Amino acid sequence: MSKIIAANWKMHKTRSEAEQTAKEIAAAIRSASVPQDRTLMVFPAFLSLPVVAQALKECPKTFVGAQNFYPKDQGAFTGEVSLPMIKDAGASWVLIGHSERRHILGESLSLICEKTRYALEHDFGVMLCIGETLVEREEGKLKAILSEQLKTALAPLADLPKATLATSLMIAYEPVWAIGTGKVAGDSDVLEAHALVKDLLRFPNIDLSFVPVLYGGSVKPGNAKQLLSLANVDGLLIGGASLEAENFLQISRA
Ligand code: PEP
Repeated sequence: MSKIIAANWKMHKTRSEAEQTAKEIAAAIRSASVPQDRTLMVFPAFLSLPVVAQALKECPKTFVGAQNFYPKDQGAFTGEVSLPMIKDAGASWVLIGHSERRHILGESLSLICEKTRYALEHDFGVMLCIGETLVEREEGKLKAILSEQLKTALAPLADLPKATLATSLMIAYEPVWAIGTGKVAGDSDVLEAHALVKDLLRFPNIDLSFVPVLYGGSVKPGNAKQLLSLANVDGLLIGGASLEAENFLQISRA
């Protein structure tokens, strides 16, 4: 299966900086220095979506997504951004449930559930991020937390067309203690969590175990190859190390 290499630029880069980085990525894709069995995804800040989408428009197997959205088409939701606006900016995917949105911005399980269905019903691809905090892991709650995050967002989707679920859904397993901390999860942690996620995706009413599961958390050019070699790791979601085009491209070649 094609490995997915996704960049989450978070609240970094002005529009011109984002455009420059996207152009560097596009040039590498055009010169065939990214392996053809890689799918690339870039999630810039909202204001940079149009320039990044434009820069990557002609690149095969390359997708642009938004880091957030509000699940209504329009209305009195001050400060929010809708999917039609994001589509108009050239993006077709969204991140949902990133730990920074769960833990810093206070997004609830029910909002994440609503956003997941809403995006899929509006023809957007969804990368659903899940992961446990250090305290939860130390308290032996890994399975309970991943199960709750997956079940609340995905089990209600059984009525959606199989084709939608097959092409428009990815999971990113990102242990919160490994995000932006430099502490990459060990091989055994990743193997355990990814096997668990695949298993938990077999809901009684719908089997979603075919959905790609990416690992995220302090991925760098130096550890990407090893992470990609692990069972059930279908790709990588990269924050800090994706901000420099060269690092992101090195990871894509890992
Ligand atoms: C992320 O924000 O999704 C992430 C994995 O960040 P970092 O690579 O910086 O740990």
